[in-house]
Amino acid sequence: TTIRELLSGGDLSYSFEFFPPKTDQGEVQLWRAIRELEPLAPTFVSVTYGAGGSTRDRTVRIIGRIAADTTLTPVAHLTCVGHSRAELRSVIGAYADAGVRNILALRGDPEGGPGMPWVRHPEGFDHADELVSLVRELGDFCVGVAAFPEGHPEAVSLDADAEFLARKATSGADFAVTQFFFDADDYFALLERADRFACEIPIIPGIMPVTNVKQIQRFAALSGAAFPTDLADRLMAVEDDPAAVRAIGVEVATDLCLKLLAGGAPGLHFYTLNRSTATREIYANVAGAPRSRGVS
Ligand code: FAD
Repeated sequence: TTIRELLSGGDLSYSFEFFPPKTDQGEVQLWRAIRELEPLAPTFVSVTYGAGGSTRDRTVRIIGRIAADTTLTPVAHLTCVGHSRAELRSVIGAYADAGVRNILALRGDPEGGPGMPWVRHPEGFDHADELVSLVRELGDFCVGVAAFPEGHPEAVSLDADAEFLARKATSGADFAVTQFFFDADDYFALLERADRFACEIPIIPGIMPVTNVKQIQRFAALSGAAFPTDLADRLMAVEDDPAAVRAIGVEVATDLCLKLLAGGAPGLHFYTLNRSTATREIYANVAGAPRSRGVS
C-alpha cells in the first residue's frame, strides 16, 4: 500500500518513527516498541537513515523485517549525505527488493552535524527535491519529504523554505512530515505559507513527546526548534522524577495534538525514540477526538 492511497481516504493518519539502534539491546527495545504500537494500526511507521555505514545497513534490514514480519506499512527514510547518485539508486533498489513502496526523501544534515556547511557528494545531490525526482523516476514509489514549521535552520527565510517545500511537491512528493515543534501556531503558519506557494500535499505534523528534559533540549538545539521556557521550567521542577516528567510531556503533547487536529491537521506523526509508552498514552488521549476540516 502507498501512503498516497492511505491519505486519500480522508481518515486521519497516525504514524510512528523509529531509528536504527546501534546495539543488540537497542534492537530488542526497538522491536518491543514496534510490537507494542502495532495494535494501534498506524497508517505507517518510518525508520530513519543515519549518517554512518553500518546504521544505514541496519535501516534497510529493519525496514525489510517490518515489511515481511509485521502488519505495518513501512516508510524508509533516505538521505543524500555522502552518497553518489549510483549509490542512492542502489539503496532505492534494496528498499524495493525489501518490499518498500514508500520513501521519505531527505537531504540529510551536513556531515559533522547541523550548523556545519553542507557539502554535497561530488556525484550526488544538493537538495532533497533532486532525490524526490530520482525516487519517482526509478519506480512507482510514494514519496514523502521534510517540512519545517519554524523554518529549516539554513533557510534564508520562512518564505524561501516554503517555496522549496512546494518545489519538492512539484518534483513528485506526495506528502510531507514536519520537524517537531511545540507551538501549534507555527504549524498553521507553515500551512498558510505552503498554500501561498500552491503546495497542496498533506503536511503531517511531527510530535516529539518529552520524556527526558536534557535529551529533548539537545534535539531542540540541533533542529532549531524553540523549546518553550515555561515547559522547560515545569519539567526542570520534576527533573528527578521520570514518571512526573513523562506525565507533563504527555499532557503537553496531548494539548498540542488536539489543537492540531481541531485546526485541520491530516494526522499526527510521533517521534517515538524507539519507546512506546508516552506515544501510546498520547494516542489514547487524542484518537477519536473531533476533527474540523479546513480551518487553519
Ligand atoms: P532540503 O529540502 O534540501 O532543504 C535543505 C535546505 O536547503 C533548507 O534550508 C531549504 O530551504 C533549502 N533548499 C531546499 N531545496 C532547495 C533548492 N532546490 N535550492 C536551494 N535551496 C534549497 N536526517 C537524517 O539524516 N536521516 C533521517 O532519516 C531524517 N529524517 C527526517 C525526518 C523528518 C520528518 C524531518 C523533518 C527531518 C529528518 N531528517 C533526517 C533531518 C533532515 O535531513 C535535515 O533537517 C536536513 O538538514 C534537511 O533535509 P531536507 O530534506 O529538508 O533538505
